[in-house]
Amino acid sequence: MSEKIYIGVDLGGTAVKVGICNEEGQLLHTYEGPTEVDKGADTIVANIEKYVRRVVEESPFAWEQVAGVGAGVAGFTNVREGIIILAPNVGLKDFPIREILEQRLGKPIKIDNDANVAALGEAWGGAGKGIENCVCYTLGTGVGGGIIMNGKIYQGFSGMAGELGHMSVVPDLEAIGCGCGQMGCLETVSSATGIIRMAKDAVARGDRTSLSHVENIMAKDVFDAAKAGDEAAIRIVNRAAFYLGKSMAAVAVVLNPELFIVGGGVSKAGDILFNEVRSVFAKLTPEPVQRGMQIVPATLGNDAGMVGAAGLFLRS
Ligand SMILES: [Zn+2]
Repeated sequence: MSEKIYIGVDLGGTAVKVGICNEEGQLLHTYEGPTEVDKGADTIVANIEKYVRRVVEESPFAWEQVAGVGAGVAGFTNVREGIIILAPNVGLKDFPIREILEQRLGKPIKIDNDANVAALGEAWGGAGKGIENCVCYTLGTGVGGGIIMNGKIYQGFSGMAGELGHMSVVPDLEAIGCGCGQMGCLETVSSATGIIRMAKDAVARGDRTSLSHVENIMAKDVFDAAKAGDEAAIRIVNRAAFYLGKSMAAVAVVLNPELFIVGGGVSKAGDILFNEVRSVFAKLTPEPVQRGMQIVPATLGNDAGMVGAAGLFLRS
């Protein structure tokens, strides 16, 4: 067995997920264990080492076949230096994770932030398989993004490219403040948080909606109500979809990607969201630009982080 394998680490605040990929971006074997953030940096890296060694032990592969270990981290990373600048959920700051893991594992290490890594995962082994240029949105608590150009993550000047959630898309009069300090970001309307906020506003305004009977409104409640024909819920979903489609129209004329991939919890809404996004995109994008471009759901779900982290060796 001389086939090379690549290990992807998805380092999150509660769990570390580790997966083995082959050179085609197929996820072959996984292992998951607690991060133990409360025990500090030494324990976190010891855990990563333990889980990486464990996933190989439990697989049919030999340690010698491991060509590299990539890690995706929720937070700001310095990709060139291999440093976690700030990862609040993991409690790490100015942490030279590449050097430390290289010493512990004796393998080449690469890191990137979780949104870029998830985008690469979808582009390499998921919805964008075989496609060189795609842009990925992750609609969760916030809106994350990643740009894959010519098969590789596009980092930009200081690694801040692909912050799609902070595109300013909402007009001033309707704009509200975003966690980033700006106003009217896509994240304020098209994230789960934004959808829940709009639903609570509708209820508080006294709009006639079935959501007024829901105690603790979640984004899924809004989508379920919209599917059942609730007009207030439909307006909210259409608003989230409108700004997502509007942002894609802006990205389309700048980057001309072949594919927009949409993942994250909100994307599970399915057709009710996607149909509206596609229709807005078609309306707002010049015809020659949008020709052949597609908007599709992500396919890897929570595995995208592991796959993309493994892909850092072949696709970054
Ligand atoms: Zn913002």
